Amino acid sequence: MKKRTLSLTIAALTLCLTAGFATACDEDPHEHIWDGGTVTKEATCTEKGEKTYNCEDCGEIRTEKIDALGHDWGAGVEVSAPTYTHDGEALATCSRCGETQTVVIEKLSYTADAVVKSGESIQAAVDSAQTGDIIEVEAGTYAEQLMLDKSVTIIGKGEVVIAGPADYADLVAVEKLATDSKGYIALVAVTDGASVIVENVKISADPAKASAVSQITHYNYFVGVAAIDASVTLNSVTVKGITFEDHLMGMQNGIALYAAAEGENRTVTVRYSTFESFNKAAAVIRAGISMFVFEDNTVTGMGEQGLIAQNGIQIHCAASIARNVIQQLVYAPATANGYEHGSYAMLVYTADEGAVTVSDNAVKACDNGVYVNVPGSTELTGNTYTDMYEGGVNEEVAEA
Ligand SMILES: [Zn+2]
Ligand SMILES: [Zn+2]
Repeated sequence: MKKRTLSLTIAALTLCLTAGFATACDEDPHEHIWDGGTVTKEATCTEKGEKTYNCEDCGEIRTEKIDALGHDWGAGVEVSAPTYTHDGEALATCSRCGETQTVVIEKLSYTADAVVKSGESIQAAVDSAQTGDIIEVEAGTYAEQLMLDKSVTIIGKGEVVIAGPADYADLVAVEKLATDSKGYIALVAVTDGASVIVENVKISADPAKASAVSQITHYNYFVGVAAIDASVTLNSVTVKGITFEDHLMGMQNGIALYAAAEGENRTVTVRYSTFESFNKAAAVIRAGISMFVFEDNTVTGMGEQGLIAQNGIQIHCAASIARNVIQQLVYAPATANGYEHGSYAMLVYTADEGAVTVSDNAVKACDNGVYVNVPGSTELTGNTYTDMYEGGVNEEVAEA
């Protein structure tokens, strides 16, 4: 008799365990009849929610977690453009909670139409190229000037240096435009309405050789890259050494990038590039250019020196100047000459309303920051100025 009671108890316990709910088993074990449940805590992008169910029979309650939703990023907005040799960047924003994240945009793929090997001539490859061709240049130093009068893309693979000819007296000048006062002698010249892309290349002049140029600079600008009535895009390009070893003082010449135009829709775009050891300015972009984009670059002047009032970039057209580092533009002659500490990171001379945006640039160790010639022409946002000359100005807008 005693034995039988025990086996019944075990049977009841087994039933309860099978159902999984011990609490309702006291008198009347049953299968709960759960309702549809109610969300008692909404899930968010990052936190779990909760749903509560009631048993319609006994009033028992149970809860279930609802998975966190995860962010809803969408496509994102491009911040920096991808190029053939450099990833871009987009900023994605969650449509639910507003959280943001940076997303890499993969670099563009390409197939080379021609390959230039070390010891060969880039100019020869350009001369025999079709419009639109992509010319890949293998690592090496190329002792030549490039005169680019057709639309091609030149992409360096490894370290590619364009150094100009052995004797800079052999550099060929580009005839001046009617709107300009001088012609141009450039290591790389884009002309004749061509639209050229140059990527991952160092354009490196030898200041010791520039004396050959300085004999004729009275009639010509000495320039690293010139776009004369043409469009140019420089991505991951270094321009350096556009200066004169034997003739620095007061020479308003030696410009790393110079562009001027008479025709319509000429644009200059520069990304991920470096400008250093120029004489007068890293870039001078004249009014005939329809758009100048200068983003994610580094401009480094000669630091404190008393020979010339260098400037970073000088803009006469519509422009977007963003996320650059511009530094070390300091003019400090031994004796005050009225122009002392007259170097500027940026000079904006455009007259069109809202034509120029200057945003999120880091200006460091310069005499002055940004000078804007015409009020209303330029939107200045998010720029920072550190270690600037005490008597200088960070952002100066001329009075109307
Ligand atoms: Zn129940
Ligand atoms: Zn979210």
